[in-house]
Amino acid sequence: MPNTYQPEQIIRPEILALSAYHVPPATGMIKLDAMENPYPLPLALRDDIALLAASAPINRYPDASAASLKTVLRQTLAISDDMDILLGNGSDEIIQIIAMAIAKPDAVLMSVEPAFVMFRMIATFTNIQYVGVPLRKDFSLDIEAMLAAIEKHQPAAIFLAYPNNPTGNLFEPAEILRIIQAASGIVIIDEAYNAFADASFKDQLEVYPNLLLMRTLSKSGLAGIRLGFLIGGSEWIAQLEKVRLPYNIGIMTQLIAEKVLHHTEVLSEQAETIKSERTKLSTFLATMRDVEVYPSKANFILFRIPGASQIFKMLKERKILIKNLDGTHPLLKDCLRVTVGTPDENTQFCTALHALLTEAV
Ligand code: PMP
Repeated sequence: MPNTYQPEQIIRPEILALSAYHVPPATGMIKLDAMENPYPLPLALRDDIALLAASAPINRYPDASAASLKTVLRQTLAISDDMDILLGNGSDEIIQIIAMAIAKPDAVLMSVEPAFVMFRMIATFTNIQYVGVPLRKDFSLDIEAMLAAIEKHQPAAIFLAYPNNPTGNLFEPAEILRIIQAASGIVIIDEAYNAFADASFKDQLEVYPNLLLMRTLSKSGLAGIRLGFLIGGSEWIAQLEKVRLPYNIGIMTQLIAEKVLHHTEVLSEQAETIKSERTKLSTFLATMRDVEVYPSKANFILFRIPGASQIFKMLKERKILIKNLDGTHPLLKDCLRVTVGTPDENTQFCTALHALLTEAV
């Protein structure tokens, strides 16, 4: 007899209540929604990667510790020997590893709101209570509220993205230090957008043993291979390593990342171009009537525009895909987020937006 159990009886209610992370179809679109680097690697480097791929022993499991890749990462990022590295299938997976490791029945995972949605979602996946402390209206940290929430909830982990997604700003470093000092658990500074930020907490790693630094190659041009990493003291990394699945970093990711890390000048040059395009795009948006542009240290720009959801829809009809944040948080009312693309993509976005706003008048 087949059983008659329904998902409602089996799946946890908090999972039933979730909607899946929505990735909109983007075929044929100008894709400015996901903070990807719009530039391919140079042809010569792609040829090298093709050779590597052709001779990769894909019949074997990959090196479970990715030792060779870690050595190159350590050299490229000048990570001191006192620090250890944990690799993840994207930094998403690192958030999940941390959450699984801290998930005691009464554990709290804390961040700010609005923040990267995965902090909250992964807390839900792992049955951890999530506390999101609202940012101020200008998206700066509400440090007093944050310190009070730390005191009250004693979070096992605090995640702060630096720069923050979706707002694009850097929080005040002195305030982040106060949070690290006040924290009863670990503080993870998520530097996903470090390539565009000219600021980092890396130097603080040696000072604060409860500080961990998370990065990803996704925004720098390698979103497709999925590689994130966490840097921190061995006492933390050794525990988190126990939760990591043994072969989470596939052989292609290991080979490609290692190869590209030998040519970081390529990624840095692309990041420089993106930064200068960011300036142009911000300047353009600021000239538009009724548009409020927020300063960005990332590869995307948040802006507020009356009728944002309608504008988003009309841009989509014109094959331009950005991110609609209207309705996701009270502070983000009428907010849209555009990823900095190639000069041509940015021009097409600006032209379309300008046309829509002029038509609307
Ligand atoms: N952290 C932040 C702040 C992000 O915005 C993102 C991607 N949107 C990630 C982490 C995850 O990146 P990935 O899993 O591609 O490394």
